[in-house]
Amino acid sequence: MKFIYADAMDFVDPEFDFENDRNAEGRVIQRDDQYPHEFLDRAPYDGILISRGVVGDVHRNGKYTLPQVMRFRREGARRFLRYGDDKYPGSLLFGDCGSFTYRDEKLPPYTPADTLEFYADGGFTHGCSIDHIIFDFDSGEGRKRGDLPQEILDRYDVTLDLASEFYSQSKRLRHFTPMGVIQGWSAPSMGWAAQQLVRMGYEYLAVGGLVPLKVPQIHSALSAIREAIPGNVRLHLLGFGKIENLAEFEKYGVASFDTTSPLLRAFKDAHKNYFSRDVNGVLSYYTAIRIPQARENNKLKSKARRGLLHQETALGLEVAALEAVRSNVKGNMGIEPALDRILEYWKALNWRESHDEAKQLRALTKQREIYRRTLGDRPWERCTCRVCREGGVEVLLFRSSNRNKRRGMHNLHVFYQHLLAHRHAA
Ligand SMILES: [Zn+2]
Repeated sequence: MKFIYADAMDFVDPEFDFENDRNAEGRVIQRDDQYPHEFLDRAPYDGILISRGVVGDVHRNGKYTLPQVMRFRREGARRFLRYGDDKYPGSLLFGDCGSFTYRDEKLPPYTPADTLEFYADGGFTHGCSIDHIIFDFDSGEGRKRGDLPQEILDRYDVTLDLASEFYSQSKRLRHFTPMGVIQGWSAPSMGWAAQQLVRMGYEYLAVGGLVPLKVPQIHSALSAIREAIPGNVRLHLLGFGKIENLAEFEKYGVASFDTTSPLLRAFKDAHKNYFSRDVNGVLSYYTAIRIPQARENNKLKSKARRGLLHQETALGLEVAALEAVRSNVKGNMGIEPALDRILEYWKALNWRESHDEAKQLRALTKQREIYRRTLGDRPWERCTCRVCREGGVEVLLFRSSNRNKRRGMHNLHVFYQHLLAHRHAA
C-alpha cells in the first residue's frame, strides 16, 4: 500500500532557535521553511496529496495566500513543494477537490473542466473526480433509494455525473491517471457506485466518506466495493485516519491511502503525540509535555484578567518548567523534582478553584505518571531521525508550531518505517 501524505502547508523553519523560541532572522514563510521530505533524511511517504480546497483560489479561501496560489498554479506542485521527480524518483502527486471544504453547499463549486485545469497546471500524476460527501452511513444493507431524503440521492447522483464527465475530459491530459470517487450511504450503494465508475472506464477508484466510519463499517463498505468490481481495479482510501488498522484492509486490494494522521496526532491527540516503534515492530505512543508559552496562552490570559494569577507568576512557572526538563535531561536534576516544576505549571494552566478538588488531584496524579513515562523513557534517544537528532527533548515539548510540527514529522518517519517493514515482510 502506497502512503500518500495529505499536505496542508505543514512545514518547519530549519533554523528555529529552541533556546530563545525564535525563527531565523529574515525567514520568509514557506520559502525558507522545509516540508517533511526536505527536512528529514528521506521522504517519509510515497507521494503527496494536494486538495483544491486547501490551495484555494480567487473565489474561495484555502490555506494558501493568494500570491502562493498564483505561484502554485504557475510553477506547478512539484516546484512549489520542492518535491521534484528527479530528487524523488517514482514519487506520486495526487489531487482531489477537498470535498470536506464545501460539504455544506448544495452542489460542488467546481467543474470537471476547471478541476482538470488545476491538475494540469499542478502536474499531478493522479487526480480524483469531483465528489460530494454523504454523511449518513447505514450499517448492514441500508436504506433503499426510495427511502432516502432527496439530498442524499442528489449528492450520490451528482458525484457519479461529475465523474462521468471528468473521465471523458481527462483523456486530453498526458501521464495522468483519473480516479473515480465513490460516495454512498451504505455498503451496497458504494458497491453500486464502484460498478458505475468502472463502466465509465475508471481503473483506479478512490473511496470517500471514510472519516466518520467505524472499523466494521469500513470492512463492509470495502467488501461490497471489491465484490462489485474486477480484481485489476485499484482502490485508494481517501482521508484514512485509522492507521493502526491498515493491515486488515489490505485484503481488499487497497493500492494506496492518504492521511495526515501521524502529523496531526503530534498536536491534536490528547495522548498519542509521539510515535515509537519497539524492537518487535509494535507501535507505541508517548504524550508530549505541555509547556505552552505563557504570554500567548488563552487560559493564562483569562486567569490574569480575572485576577487569579499574575502574568509574571505564570511566566516564572513556565521558565521553571522548561529549565526542569532540560536540567533533567542533562542529568542535573532528578526526575521527581523536575516533575514537580512541570506540574506546577500544569496546575497554573488547568486548576480551577471552583471545581471538585479531589477530582482535580486525581487528574494531577495521572498527569504526573504520563509525564514520568515520557521523561523517564527518553524515547527521543532511541530515534535516529533528524528531528530527534537535532531537537532532542525539545521535540517532546508541546510548545509552539516548530516543535509540534517537528514531532509530527518524526511521527511520519516512524509510521513510514513501520509501513516499509510491513511491506518487506509481506
Ligand atoms: Zn525521531
